[in-house]
Amino acid sequence: MINRKEFLSNSLKTIAAGSIGLNLAGIASAKGDYTGIAPVSKATIDQSNFQELRRNVGLFTGRGGTIGWLDNSEALVAIDAQFPDTAEECINGLKARSSKTMDLLVNSHHHNDHTAGNGVFAEFTNHIIAHERVPEYQKAANADSETVPVTADQRFSTRWSGDFGDETLHLFHFGAAHTGGDTISFFEQAEVAHLGDLVFNRAYPYIDPRSGASVQNWVSVLNQIIEELPKETLYIFGHGHPEHGITGSWQDIQRKREFLEQLLAVTQNAIAEGKSKEELAKMEMVPGFEDFAAPNWRLPLSYNLEIVYDELIGS
Ligand SMILES: [Zn+2]
Repeated sequence: MINRKEFLSNSLKTIAAGSIGLNLAGIASAKGDYTGIAPVSKATIDQSNFQELRRNVGLFTGRGGTIGWLDNSEALVAIDAQFPDTAEECINGLKARSSKTMDLLVNSHHHNDHTAGNGVFAEFTNHIIAHERVPEYQKAANADSETVPVTADQRFSTRWSGDFGDETLHLFHFGAAHTGGDTISFFEQAEVAHLGDLVFNRAYPYIDPRSGASVQNWVSVLNQIIEELPKETLYIFGHGHPEHGITGSWQDIQRKREFLEQLLAVTQNAIAEGKSKEELAKMEMVPGFEDFAAPNWRLPLSYNLEIVYDELIGS
């Protein structure tokens, strides 16, 4: 499942953590990332990006946020859409496994590395569902782009459930965290949950305050996930770390929660000591969280510290 081809990109907007590329083009600048992408040949369906997890639920890694899927005898569901080229690659791979039309695509949140493939999926899926704030965030993030984003035709606010053959999918929104519109997708019988970008496994997170993010509330959201979902749940993370991977357990969520708590604590201390944001941002490592300095990860710690500083002083 390791896909190294994305490492060839020299784009400064591409963050690489080991084998897992995170493209921030659509996040930071709101510009789409459609140009220069060669169409995927339908003849070459690469199944190496697909991984089966549990009870008809699996994942797909291409470029951007990890895609989750359910493929059972009666239904086909996907979580997240990546970019148009890899969306096509994912759909072709699913078509090779299943003759069904897709019942539902879930957008875990609005960032383009999770939704820019919506238009490709829209021709294959009956519905797209997202948290109710996602379409407006998507439109705002793409306001400067010539591309009009394809948005969800179904919306939910806090909880939603649907039956898909012998599987039940629950969608939860536990409040602001990575953005103001994050969805947790939980396949109840398989006990597999897709967390979107609520967890970058052992890597400095992207935080999007312009789209409603809250680091303080993010801690509560991660706690609620650990408390509400079964301990045996296998989690799919939006992005990961070459050693720690893109799947994990509640302990990985706890580790992320502890990192955010420590980020808040060191920032609170700096503010109490009268330090400026610039002084705080010089901190090279959060003590005890050396494992979050993932190799080749281009989101620096200073970026996290500056955003938390602004959040805590209320600017
Ligand atoms: Zn994101």
